[in-house]
Amino acid sequence: MEKVELLVKNGEVWTPGGFVETDIAVNGGKIVALGKPPVLPESADTVIDAKGKKIIPGLIDTHTHHRDPGFTHKEDITTATMAAAAGGVTFSIGMPNVNPPTTTVERYRALIEHHKKNAIVDFNHNPSGTVPEEIPGLAKEGPLAFKIFMVKDTGRDYPHMPGIGINNNGELFKCFETVGQTGLPLMVHPHDQDLMDEIEGRYWKREDRSPQAYAKAYREFDGIIWDTAMSTLFRMQKALGAKLHVLHMSTPEGLAMLRRAKNEGRPCSCEVNPWAMFLGTWENVEKLGPYCLGFWVPPAHVEALWQAINDGTIDVIGTDHAPHTKEEKEKGWKDMWSCPGGEPQIQDYLSLFLDAVNQGKLSLDTLVRISSYNAAKIFNVYPRKGVIQLGADADLVVFDPEYRGIISVKTQHMNVDYSAFEGWSIEGRPSVVTVRGEVAARDGKFVGQPGRGRFLMRKPSHF
Ligand SMILES: [Zn+2]
Repeated sequence: MEKVELLVKNGEVWTPGGFVETDIAVNGGKIVALGKPPVLPESADTVIDAKGKKIIPGLIDTHTHHRDPGFTHKEDITTATMAAAAGGVTFSIGMPNVNPPTTTVERYRALIEHHKKNAIVDFNHNPSGTVPEEIPGLAKEGPLAFKIFMVKDTGRDYPHMPGIGINNNGELFKCFETVGQTGLPLMVHPHDQDLMDEIEGRYWKREDRSPQAYAKAYREFDGIIWDTAMSTLFRMQKALGAKLHVLHMSTPEGLAMLRRAKNEGRPCSCEVNPWAMFLGTWENVEKLGPYCLGFWVPPAHVEALWQAINDGTIDVIGTDHAPHTKEEKEKGWKDMWSCPGGEPQIQDYLSLFLDAVNQGKLSLDTLVRISSYNAAKIFNVYPRKGVIQLGADADLVVFDPEYRGIISVKTQHMNVDYSAFEGWSIEGRPSVVTVRGEVAARDGKFVGQPGRGRFLMRKPSHF
């Protein structure tokens, strides 16, 4: 074989059948050969020596808030995807709570054009599925899913502004049905607003609007507001047969409902967020206040989540990367209900999960499945993404399992200047990240190109 663009040598490469020692040759952004010389070329424009390192598919983040357009004081598509690249994410799926929210074809096209000029990693964007008349047209633009929040924000109008939330079951059913007809999955943030009105009202009556009150309200009666919402969703899914992807899975009851749906062969899946696995302890709720997102996840629930990751009930990690400025967050100490929920997550979650691998909480194979492989299958970009094989995009994370370091805001590429994980020690970090064969990050530092990220549409075969 002649000279190629990129050669990654001497690493251990993840495949669905296990890790294998192979070199990887890349041309035109695609993997063109796997093996060893003389099958593979000796030289290339760029050679990465991955001796002692492991190579996994680039991460797919199915839940990133790029904040652009409309909230670029928090983050924009360039900073969000710089942080993504540094953290090993090579494909990022954006969420519709931008301004204007992506409820129409016109807005969707404008957002995609803007992203094309400024994104560093490949991307897609989930439009809002709240306007039934717009759904068929939006589906033709190439999204991989639709998104609905079952939330109406109380005391603030962000991150769940009017137009993207539905808290009426009839409306929700109609939207779910219409999205189902497009063949695309519906991603839903489950939330029982009526029940939440009652529960949070009890705290407000006592004039308790602290971060602790907020965290307790969301987890009251073992997470009842999540569970009643999920029960509605799973029942609607059963009636419609449509694809359902549940966001923010964090309760044992929710997991039981999902297990049952999967056992019945229904097209249901879910994500787990890094904040649920690592951040939402009561200790952190007290110490970090508004910077701890506000969602408390008690130890028994975290335990149930690890079990569900290991038995395959949990399909993907969605970062729910959701930055807000320090000023916006600081308000939460006094009144958590006036403070936007959400935390930056995208740059460090691979390290957090690699650290969990080193602690024996999950296998590296499982981590690869929930961080890229499963997402590519569920959202129908497999085998172009989510696997290292001939013909796939050369989206690679070369990582050093021996790396030891500290998470610090000093090395963050995202726009905001804090991290809830500040000072945490971690084992494992991406050494080199490539997006379609081009190096986008080295040793946690972004080195890519704005505008290099491509809009990856869903496969046309679905029409
Ligand atoms: Zn979110």
